[in-house]
Amino acid sequence: MNHHDLLRELQLKNNSKIVLLVADGLGGLPITPGGQTELETARTPNLDALATRGVLGLSTPVLPGITPGSGPGHLGLFGYDPLEFRIGRGVLEALGIDFDLGPDDVAIRGNFCTLDASGKITDRRAGRIASEIGKKLCEKLDKIQIPGVEIFVRPVKEYRLVIVIRGKGLGGAVNDTDPQKTGVAPLEPQGRDAASQKTAEIAKQFLAKAKEVLKDDHPANFFTLRGIDKRPAIPTFEEVYGMKAGAVAVYPMYRGLARLVSMDVLDAGQTLADQCARLEQAWNDYDFFFMHYKYTDSTGEDGNFPAKVERIEQLDAVLPRITALKPDVLIVTGDHSTPSKMKSHSWHPVPTLLVADNCRPDACTKFGEATCLQGGLGQFQAKYLMTLAMAHAGRLEKYGA
Ligand SMILES: [Zn+2]
Repeated sequence: MNHHDLLRELQLKNNSKIVLLVADGLGGLPITPGGQTELETARTPNLDALATRGVLGLSTPVLPGITPGSGPGHLGLFGYDPLEFRIGRGVLEALGIDFDLGPDDVAIRGNFCTLDASGKITDRRAGRIASEIGKKLCEKLDKIQIPGVEIFVRPVKEYRLVIVIRGKGLGGAVNDTDPQKTGVAPLEPQGRDAASQKTAEIAKQFLAKAKEVLKDDHPANFFTLRGIDKRPAIPTFEEVYGMKAGAVAVYPMYRGLARLVSMDVLDAGQTLADQCARLEQAWNDYDFFFMHYKYTDSTGEDGNFPAKVERIEQLDAVLPRITALKPDVLIVTGDHSTPSKMKSHSWHPVPTLLVADNCRPDACTKFGEATCLQGGLGQFQAKYLMTLAMAHAGRLEKYGA
């Protein structure tokens, strides 16, 4: 029995409200050994007050030492084992442009490239064409028709695009056509099973027509296919936890991840204030709210320690609007760490704060990596965060007599 089966069995309904506030890439590192992290440096009176009332811990997004992308990071927080439910790159890219993927869709990430007269790749990114050009080319490609399926072609940014093939009985196990080097022709799509071979045949037809359509569009006169995959079959949030969930996320990828587990994706506006307003408005309509804050990650990726500190302080400043709603359980955490020092995601466990009337207090009075290490939640796998949330919300029955 996996933990989802257990939760299906033990879930109880009540009127409690749970808020999961995800500060993307929240965890950090001191710039010099012995110093303070971004979160520890930030002045966070509201988070510290919650830390005093609540219980702290460190969550491991996937496994110790594994650096996760935001996809697996969020699936873990939503209580889905990120090793069991894997999201292909094409699927993530499609989610990232708010494309509503259905069960019959195969999603593909495309890269415009340059072919020479003999059909060999001379530039795998087509000279990094401007987004505006990519958009026009996608509009042309979107008109291509292949009998028996629907094809959608959407621009992402610069030389990147998304292709979605929609049709019954299509498999997603098809190789990348990007040979990963120049001076050779793109590879042919090949399916690894019968259903995927069907996809590969359609992709071949599509590529042949596309080559004709793009023949005068040097440097972007062709494209390679990567990360071909279908949307994984994921049990819905409501079925597993018995809660109606609303997502208040600004950025498309996180809206897409919420959609993947069948949360309702609400119009979140652009700013934290907009998000809070949406949360207040929708308060009576849902049991569970996922609120996403991007800038703790982007400033970390930029390697900008002071900016990340400032973004954490901005998040702290809106917390009174959330606590004023009196959620029964409020969790503040991240989907992974993004230390400014590393300018990238990292494997370090993620500071986590849980506040509920029935949580067992620990001695922590500040929200930071070092205090989280001393916290009452200890170190735990992110996929069990939802179990803790439900328990503290009184939404789980006793297991066994
Ligand atoms: Zn992330």
